[in-house]
Amino acid sequence: MGKPAYREIERWSPNNHGRGGAKVTNFFLHTQEGDGTAESLAGYLQNPASQVSYHYTVDNSGVVCDVVDTDMCSWSVLDANPISINLCFAGSRASWTRQQWIDRMGRGIEIAAWLAVQDCKKYGFSTNVIAPPYKRGPGISDHRYVTKVLGMGSHTDVGDGFPWDVFAGHVNAITNPNSTPTPGGFLMALNDAEQRELLDHVREIRKQLGPWPQLGKNKKGQDLTLVDSVAKNIAKADI
Ligand SMILES: [Zn+2]
Repeated sequence: MGKPAYREIERWSPNNHGRGGAKVTNFFLHTQEGDGTAESLAGYLQNPASQVSYHYTVDNSGVVCDVVDTDMCSWSVLDANPISINLCFAGSRASWTRQQWIDRMGRGIEIAAWLAVQDCKKYGFSTNVIAPPYKRGPGISDHRYVTKVLGMGSHTDVGDGFPWDVFAGHVNAITNPNSTPTPGGFLMALNDAEQRELLDHVREIRKQLGPWPQLGKNKKGQDLTLVDSVAKNIAKADI
């Protein structure tokens, strides 16, 4: 999948400051909790009195506003500002259901995935999508990650209804353009820790299958596998 169509507009806000040499490791998604568009929300963020900003505002009409240069901190996530790039879905609410997200922000979600992947590459951090219940690490997550994992503040956006699988499917399609989609959509991308866990479990299961000395031996004197042993015992039991 290539770059989605969108219109990018510069709406620079004074609400920013330098990163102080911090390395960017995360891209965070936010809701507006209001009924704005990318442009109207950017207008609010341009007001110094608002004391808040994001790097990007995105809406479902395909408009992206550049509000803060990604080399600078936006004012979005307290002490996590120096290590993060922040994007707000204009007009969105954390109380939205999965269907509301898909119906009202489906296009915006794809654009957000594209912007996130570009910045992950630009700043050299992982495109792992860190969905709830969250695992700490570099990658793409949301404001609640900052609350739950980093222990900063109390915001819960983007909320329980956010379709992380849809978002991760876009990220996967952008990062692996030659991968084949499964009939039901893209598989959820596993992060490094989950891949390790999966491999460990597969190895453990493989080991359990044998061969094991305690399962008995075949005619050649070799230890039996679990399947051989069960088969032998069924034969013996004459089921
Ligand atoms: Zn937020």
